[in-house]
Amino acid sequence: MQSLAAFCETLIPPLPVPSFSEEIPVDKLEAILSFYKASGSQSPVSDEFSEISVEMREETLRKWSRQRYLTPLRAVFVVIKLEHTDDNSGNKAWEAIGYQVDTREKLKKPGERPLQRGIIETAAHQNDSTLVQYLIQRGLQVMEDPEHNTCKVKCDVVIVGSCCGGGVAASVLASSGKKVLVLEKGNYFVPEDYSSLEGPSMSELYESGGFLSAFGGETTLLAGSTVGGGSAVNWSACIKTPDSVLREWSVDHIIPLYGSPEYQYAMDAVCKRIGVTEHCTEEGFQNQVLRRGCEKLGLKVEFVPRNCTEDHYRGSCCYGCRTGEKKGTRFHMAVLARSGFGRVLGHNHNTWRLRSREENCTILFSAHPMGSCRTGATAEEGGVNQNGESCEAENLFVCDRSGLPSAIGVNPMITIQSTAYCISKKIAESLK
Ligand SMILES: Cc1cc2nc3c(=O)[nH]c(=O)nc-3n(C[C@H](O)[C@H](O)[C@H](O)COP(=O)(O)OP(=O)(O)OC[C@H]3O[C@@H](n4cnc5c(N)ncnc54)[C@H](O)[C@@H]3O)c2cc1C
Repeated sequence: MQSLAAFCETLIPPLPVPSFSEEIPVDKLEAILSFYKASGSQSPVSDEFSEISVEMREETLRKWSRQRYLTPLRAVFVVIKLEHTDDNSGNKAWEAIGYQVDTREKLKKPGERPLQRGIIETAAHQNDSTLVQYLIQRGLQVMEDPEHNTCKVKCDVVIVGSCCGGGVAASVLASSGKKVLVLEKGNYFVPEDYSSLEGPSMSELYESGGFLSAFGGETTLLAGSTVGGGSAVNWSACIKTPDSVLREWSVDHIIPLYGSPEYQYAMDAVCKRIGVTEHCTEEGFQNQVLRRGCEKLGLKVEFVPRNCTEDHYRGSCCYGCRTGEKKGTRFHMAVLARSGFGRVLGHNHNTWRLRSREENCTILFSAHPMGSCRTGATAEEGGVNQNGESCEAENLFVCDRSGLPSAIGVNPMITIQSTAYCISKKIAESLK
């Protein structure tokens, strides 16, 4: 803590300290002192800051927000100070800022892990000649090719990523009787496994431990990397593709799928499958503030539909839903387990990777990147055609967020799943 305080003081000298306010509750004193100490300030810096005029405060904050070196520093600070846990999985700063880890008793008792029968964990066999034997034991047809030092697994469809798109496609294709193999680099977790601790959860459930950067470090991307992909960690907002986007895609981009009844049917089907409800009564603090503000302005406010039970909100489902009340893509994928036609091949990638951003400061952040291999009416306009098939490689289909024709301006899960539903239905038809 002392080293951290000295480190912070060097970069951001603390303001002078007034005497301690009597308003601080005695039972919080120790935690608050430790919090300010770790902030590189003698306590309580906020009192002093609040004495500055509003204009000065605004100017100071604006200045800090423009400091390029502060952005990576802030990220490191958050990781060390807020995500770090002691031997008892606790952190003094949490108490000081009123942060609570979800410690509720788990509603589900450990029992059968729904997808376990279909999961084939290859990590232990990665450099092992027993791999082929293991795959055969798990019900796969494997052909060895000693000349090229490879082996081939027989199946009808291979899906890379058990994600929002891939999970739906796997479910549709397995239901139609196809042998489906899903390759997933993340691990398989069920509600009983989740700790709700930020540090370990980011490391276990997110791509690059939550530190995935693009465009030379100027953009930080947040993406789930586990069985279920983003749907296992996302904020569960389930918004159907807005009509304006459907018009733009079907008319301007000339992609008829998005103007068709099939697409409307697909949106209803995926929402039903993952239990979307518009009657969620509990909502997060920031949503409550927004709601109050809008209501005061006389604006109409609606609840965001979510794929969970109506009274479910803890604010920590982004570290995995410990009660299982949030229903992600694994509900689509449960079809795989039941159908007997699906297998998920996974391997372990438990590593912390902190990207160096030395010169590049992270300016943009997104949990919703889309359209990096977009659908187009012609090969000039997109990487895949309206059936999701690559313009360059036959029988290679894209049915995740990268295939969307453009960014949609709202949370994309339902759009991705509905698109995957339509694409995979067509693939199933073509394989008959
Ligand atoms: C924190 C967070 C909150 C979000 N909140 C919402 C929300 O409330 N509502 C909403 O609509 N959207 C939300 N999103 C966005 C939504 O979850 C994503 O857009 C969606 O999951 C993307 O789906 P996808 O099919 O493209 O891939 P993903 O769901 O991202 O899954 C990709 C999967 O592929 C695996 N994979 C990647 N490369 C390989 C490889 N080479 N081999 C094997 N496996 C591989 C990954 O491990 C991962 O499991 C959120 C996203 C995040 C990160």
